[in-house]
Amino acid sequence: MQLHHNYATLGYEFFAHTQIQPLLKQRLVQVNQPLADDLNIDLTDDLTLKQLSGEVSVDDSLSMVYAGHQFGGFTPRLGDGRGVLLGEVYDQQQRLHDIHIKGAGQTPFSRQGDGRAVLRSSIREYLASEYMHGLGIPTSRALALYTSEQAVYRERPETGALLVRTARTHIRFGHFEYFFAHKKFAELQQLIDYSLDTYFAHLKSHEQPIKAMLIEIVERTARLIAQWQSVGFQHGVMNTDNFSILGETIDYGPYGFMEDFNDTWVCNHSDYEGRYAFHRQPGIGLWNLNCLMHAFSNHLSRDELIEVLKHYEPCLQQHYNELMAAKLGIQDAAQAEALLEPLYSLMRREKLDFTLFFRLLSKHDENKQETLLDEVVDRKALADWLNYYWSIRNDGRDQATVKTQVLRTNPKFVLRNYLAHQAIESAESGNYIPLKELLNVLESPFDEHPESESLAQRAPDWGRDLAVSCSS
Ligand code: AMP
Ligand code: MG
Repeated sequence: MQLHHNYATLGYEFFAHTQIQPLLKQRLVQVNQPLADDLNIDLTDDLTLKQLSGEVSVDDSLSMVYAGHQFGGFTPRLGDGRGVLLGEVYDQQQRLHDIHIKGAGQTPFSRQGDGRAVLRSSIREYLASEYMHGLGIPTSRALALYTSEQAVYRERPETGALLVRTARTHIRFGHFEYFFAHKKFAELQQLIDYSLDTYFAHLKSHEQPIKAMLIEIVERTARLIAQWQSVGFQHGVMNTDNFSILGETIDYGPYGFMEDFNDTWVCNHSDYEGRYAFHRQPGIGLWNLNCLMHAFSNHLSRDELIEVLKHYEPCLQQHYNELMAAKLGIQDAAQAEALLEPLYSLMRREKLDFTLFFRLLSKHDENKQETLLDEVVDRKALADWLNYYWSIRNDGRDQATVKTQVLRTNPKFVLRNYLAHQAIESAESGNYIPLKELLNVLESPFDEHPESESLAQRAPDWGRDLAVSCSS
């Protein structure tokens, strides 16, 4: 593995040198071969495996320092409390990716924490990030998973694990907030220059490169959240320390994918006020960007920062409408909004499964409405909506072609909580086959996978309200 150490050149104000502290009897249980190939990492190489698991230490591996707004309140110093950045690698297209180990042991930023991650949360992160990738949504990725014989204590003793993950960057909004809040303005400038050089080099010849970078961050964030809303994804902990400057989904914790339609749903049982409820995510994205802008108060005027933020809402709305228009198979994005309002109110009333309903709609024919109507109690309301829908969709295009496209934008499979729960229970008792089968469908969720039909079903009663909270 050809590791680079670009971030490490920033100096000691930006991180603490940290080594992975391996767990007892670690065992590699899952690897992501296509990702390893793309990153030019040979997972059969003994030294590479030892570096990833911490048996062999890497010079310049480090834990980052950052701050963050957590549930609305500012914490001036956070940082990687259980994470180690081993270094960076180049992929086949010469793009840089971080190699980051989660659950690596205590760091100077651990505060009260034990620095560990449990198998349960590591599997949840593995599944979610690979599913998001399968859906085409920017995300950190899972490269490898190690289990161990070391108990880690949460509400109960659990199996300790290490997750090797990659992301284009682990620089968060909270990095900029940290240097601004501590009045470390020279370092803030260094971080801005580093970000521009490393990730926004295409903007450097711009008249105002910093402003251009901020506009790009705003638009990437807006597009990301539009994508989340279009697949029913809820992050659960949208704190500014969990927001990447490159608009990738990072730091999967108590996330959820919507099953029965409910747009006010709160997946994180520790989020008592519902701050990060599904329907609040677009507004929180803007709130977080506002925090980021504050850290640039010395660089841009108040009016300029407001102007940058004004890119957010139209970008999110436009992108969301385009995504939903594609899901509905209609051409005019503006009409998606008009169609969705009555549809969502119907889906809410009927508690329709978000993923299965759109999939069924994709397969549906204008003249064969029975299977769809059988899904609801209020058949008339759905029949009326379908008439309205087809009056827009049927615009002279070849409908067989439209159907094929629509099936590529509405997944058959969704990461249901109970499926993750089953895969985790099996893995905890040493059986990784259910995890592998689930991963297989999540990696290509638009394909039929007839051999795994049961994984496309709604949750049984016992699996409907499984609680997920922050501590993992
Ligand atoms: P999160 O909400 O998971 O993004 O975590 C918020 C902060 O708490 C981050 O700085 C994490 O590194 C830190 N943290 C979370 N879990 C642990 C743990 N078990 N040990 C030490 N630090 C942790
Ligand atoms: Mg975090």
